[in-house]
Amino acid sequence: MWGFAFRRARCQCDAMNVLLIGPPGSGKGTQGERLAQRLGLEHIAAGDLLRAEVEADTPLGRQVADYMRRGELVPDDVIMKLLLPKVLAAAQRNGYLLDGFPRSVDQAVEAKALADQAGAAPDAVIYLDAPRDELVRRILARAAIEGRPDDNPETVHKRLQVFDEATRPLVDYYRERGLLHVVDASKGEDEVTEDILAALAKVSS
Ligand code: AMP
Repeated sequence: MWGFAFRRARCQCDAMNVLLIGPPGSGKGTQGERLAQRLGLEHIAAGDLLRAEVEADTPLGRQVADYMRRGELVPDDVIMKLLLPKVLAAAQRNGYLLDGFPRSVDQAVEAKALADQAGAAPDAVIYLDAPRDELVRRILARAAIEGRPDDNPETVHKRLQVFDEATRPLVDYYRERGLLHVVDASKGEDEVTEDILAALAKVSS
């Protein structure tokens, strides 16, 4: 809380660092874009950055393509190398809205050590919660529109399993640290956005 007050005073703006976590299909991408715009934060989407590397066939993209196709997490060192400079730079400006990272307690612990040193720690963590059947329904509906190679029934099952095993423990990790805000992501997009903004308003007041 003090860190937040200090940063506001220093940059005369509503700087804030927010993590958006949730299972596949919970609306991280959609909400991330909307919130970043509403709050004037930089939207950094781990999955989008990885897909751009795969698309451009860069060495990093070639390293991660198979993991992504299988619905597995890409190695920690790769995701850290890709995200960290962007996250630290955004924190120096008006703050970040980071979606899709961290995805495991190991990633959270490693990022925290570096972010603390740089004054870039998160001020709040939003957890987008929705029932499993709604998630699957949304992902398969999105598949027909976006054509993501990992939005097929087999990979979706794997991604949900990876979420349960690797990512869900973050809910307790951030709750214990007093940063967690659970939002019901099964509601309509507009309502979810307003619920998140209401949760963040309490953080910054
Ligand atoms: P998303 O667009 O957030 O659903 O991410 C798509 C895919 O990118 C995931 O299924 C993972 O293979 C990979 N990915 C995204 N974020 C991370 C992360 N923080 N750690 C490891 N892999 C990630």
